[in-house]
Amino acid sequence: MGYEMRTVAGVRKDILDAVRPLDPVTVPLLDAWGCVLAEDARAPYDIPTFASSAMDGYAVRSEDVAGAPVTLKRVGSAFIGHTPEGEVGPGQTMWIATGAPVPPGADCIAPKEDVTSTTDSVAVHKAFTAGQFIRPPGQDLKQGDVVVPAGKILAGPELGNLSTAGFAEVAVYPKVRVCVISTGDELIEPGTKPAYGQIPDGNGYTICGCLKELGIEPVRPPIVPDDETLLREVFVSRAPEVDVFISSGGMSVGDLDVVRKVVEELGRIDAYKVAMQPGMPQAFGSVEGRTYFGLPGNPVSVFVSFELFIRPALLKMMGRTDLDRPVVSASLDEQMAGLPDKTRYSRVLVYRDNGSLRARSTGPAASNLLGTVVKANGLAVIPPGDEPVRAGEQVNIQLYRPLEQIHA
Ligand code: AMP
Ligand code: MG
Repeated sequence: MGYEMRTVAGVRKDILDAVRPLDPVTVPLLDAWGCVLAEDARAPYDIPTFASSAMDGYAVRSEDVAGAPVTLKRVGSAFIGHTPEGEVGPGQTMWIATGAPVPPGADCIAPKEDVTSTTDSVAVHKAFTAGQFIRPPGQDLKQGDVVVPAGKILAGPELGNLSTAGFAEVAVYPKVRVCVISTGDELIEPGTKPAYGQIPDGNGYTICGCLKELGIEPVRPPIVPDDETLLREVFVSRAPEVDVFISSGGMSVGDLDVVRKVVEELGRIDAYKVAMQPGMPQAFGSVEGRTYFGLPGNPVSVFVSFELFIRPALLKMMGRTDLDRPVVSASLDEQMAGLPDKTRYSRVLVYRDNGSLRARSTGPAASNLLGTVVKANGLAVIPPGDEPVRAGEQVNIQLYRPLEQIHA
């Protein structure tokens, strides 16, 4: 059975239209790190909650110090985390530490540098106005203000601000639970020398590593041979613990088509070719009610297809709206031939050269050479057509590693 040929953009749109963000869950604050906040978090009270001193010094009444220099009677102290020792009446003052609550009666702080003090008296050398060196309540956020908006990825500062606002738990989009299945009679686990015709499962590790980069802890069952019964058993047994299945291998035309048959039986499969190189035969659908992505066996195709289709879909399921890798324009070091009717994604190393970006190929186009992905940091997009992109011409490159990591 043949496969229909589709464009990269068309496939990407169909997949992204088909997936939805997962239902939000409420989790303890630290578990929310890296997740997207599902609803606006609003301050339940003013932050800070009380007026505090911005300086070490003396809490005073502005009308007392208006005619400074003036000497005041010291009546106690205000320490951090404690209620001040009484009030500051007319002609009185109280020692106050930075961050301590301002005692009743006082309306400004005379920093310790601007006074001379003895045990029971304080000479204030200059005048201060009401509110000076006081952090008022609600200075950071007023009750009802948005502390962190829905849609924001929660990193350190967001968690800190949520904690400050009293949130012990928050509603976030959960991490997608993904099962990664490698199929093929030739596959073995790494660690032993392959016998003739065997190869270690590279794709399983590529995909699991790419998932970890998204904060996902993948489920990786043992390798499945080209056997319908065994594959069916893996899908059925793993479905309750996952949201998504990704399989690699068994997609080629003329192959045993084990994957296609089993997925069709347990759900729905839409199998097609994508007009791209590498990475032609692919599939999308559902198995046992879970989202299903079928990848070809070739290692580079697996990586590129994951980047173009699966990564954005998983991000969308996790509530993200920034689905694309950054794209930079760089000048090619050498000519790259396009293909008449396919977009070519060439592995390149993008590097800085005197303030401009340049890119060089990391190896041949063959889709079994995963080393070309390891050496590169971007996929140069060579549009379909007979004309090559020539040396020195600009090309768009999707970066899958930050430029800063490059040592070119
Ligand atoms: P297939 O799509 O199953 O016909 O596989 C296409 C090519 O990819 C074959 O050379 C396979 O040996 C290879 N391949 C399939 N699965 C994997 C895998 N998990 N790791 C590395 N190579 C694989
Ligand atoms: Mg195979």
